Amino acid sequence: MKVALIGAGLSGIKAASLLAELGHEVTVFEKSRGLGGRLANRREAWGKLDIGAQYFTARDPGFQKQVELWLQASAVQVWDFSPYCVEQGTLTPSPDETVRYIGSPLMNQLVYCLSSNIAINFQCHISKVEKSREGWRLLSADGALFSSFDWLIVSSPAEQSRTLLDSCSDVMALVPEAVHQPCWAAGLATRGKIPADVQGIFGDETVRWASRLSSRPGFRKAPDVDDVWMLHFSPEWSEQQGKETAVDIGQTGLNWLQTIMATGLEKTAQYRHYWRYANIKPVTFDQPYLLDERQRLAVIGAWCAGGRVEGAWLSAQKCIQDLSG
Ligand SMILES: Cc1cc2nc3c(=O)[nH]c(=O)nc-3n(C[C@H](O)[C@H](O)[C@H](O)COP(=O)(O)OP(=O)(O)OC[C@H]3O[C@@H](n4cnc5c(N)ncnc54)[C@H](O)[C@@H]3O)c2cc1C
Repeated sequence: MKVALIGAGLSGIKAASLLAELGHEVTVFEKSRGLGGRLANRREAWGKLDIGAQYFTARDPGFQKQVELWLQASAVQVWDFSPYCVEQGTLTPSPDETVRYIGSPLMNQLVYCLSSNIAINFQCHISKVEKSREGWRLLSADGALFSSFDWLIVSSPAEQSRTLLDSCSDVMALVPEAVHQPCWAAGLATRGKIPADVQGIFGDETVRWASRLSSRPGFRKAPDVDDVWMLHFSPEWSEQQGKETAVDIGQTGLNWLQTIMATGLEKTAQYRHYWRYANIKPVTFDQPYLLDERQRLAVIGAWCAGGRVEGAWLSAQKCIQDLSG
C-alpha cells in the first residue's frame, strides 16, 4: 500500500515506522526543516535548548517497553530530581514519585530513533488534500503535486488537521473547534547562584513550568554562564499576550525567576518562541485516533490521546495496530 503521512512529529514518525515495518510504502511530508514537531530545540552559542516538551512520563505498559528500548540505546535518560512548586509566591519543595525522562541529547532524539529508512520531504507544507479515483492527491504550498496514495494519515495538531480535511471528510466533526492552548517559551542564560537541587519548578499563573536545563544530565553550557533555563508561560498569560505582544518575554521570565528565588540574577542571553498550539485544553476529546474508512483516511496525534509525548506514541501505535489487524 502507498501511504502519504503529514507531519514528522513523534506520532507521524511512529506511524510511518510501523507502516514501513509492515512493508508499506510511506512518504512523510513535513513543513519544517527537521524532525520532531513539538519536540523541537534551538541551538544557541550558550546551550542547546529544548523549547517544546521538557520531559515525558510513561504510564502505558506498551510505551514503557518502548522507553526501555530507548534507554538501552541511550536515546533517553532519566532526569532525576525532586520538583519545586510556587505557593503564594514562595518556592516550596514538592517531591513526588514520578519518573521523568528526557531525550538524549535532546528531546527530538525519540523521533530520530524511529526515522531510519523513512522517506521524508522536509520544508513541504501541504496546503490542500483531495481524494480522486486514483487515490489521495496532496498539493504543497509551493505548488508541487504528489498523487496516487491509497491512504492518507494526518498527524498535525487538531486545528491544522481540520483546516486540511474539512473539504473532503467529516472525520473531524466531533472534535471541538479549539483543542490546544498557546504557550510563550523563554530560554534564558543567567549568572548568579541558585541552590543545586532546584531543577524543575511547577509555577503559577504567569509561568507554568521552569526547567533548569543546565542541571539536566549531559547538558553543555557556555563557560561564562552559570545556568540555562527554559520557562513556559501559562496558557492564560500566553493567550492574553498573543504572538505580537510588545512585552519583553525574556525580561518578564527573569523577573519571575528572581522573585521566586528571592535573589538577584543577571541575564546574559535570551531566546523566545510562541507556540500557537502547545498543550491541550483540559476538556477535549478522548479517542486514540479518527478514521474515515470509506475515504481511507486516518487522523492521529498526541491531542487524540491525552496530549503528551506518550499520547503521540500511543495514538500512532493504536491506529496502525487496528488498521493492520
Ligand atoms: C511548549 C510545550 C511544552 C510541552 N511540554 C510537554 C511535557 O513536558 N511533557 C509532555 O509529555 N508533552 C509536552 N508537550 C506536548 C508534546 O510535545 C506533544 O504532545 C507531542 O510532541 C505532539 O506530537 P505529535 O506528533 O502529535 O504532533 P507534533 O509534534 O506537533 O507534530 C506534527 C508535525 O506536523 C507538521 N505539520 C503540521 N501541519 C502540516 C502541513 N500542513 N504540512 C506538513 N507538515 C505539517 C508540523 O510541522 C509538526 O512537525 C509540550 C508541548 C509544547 C509545545
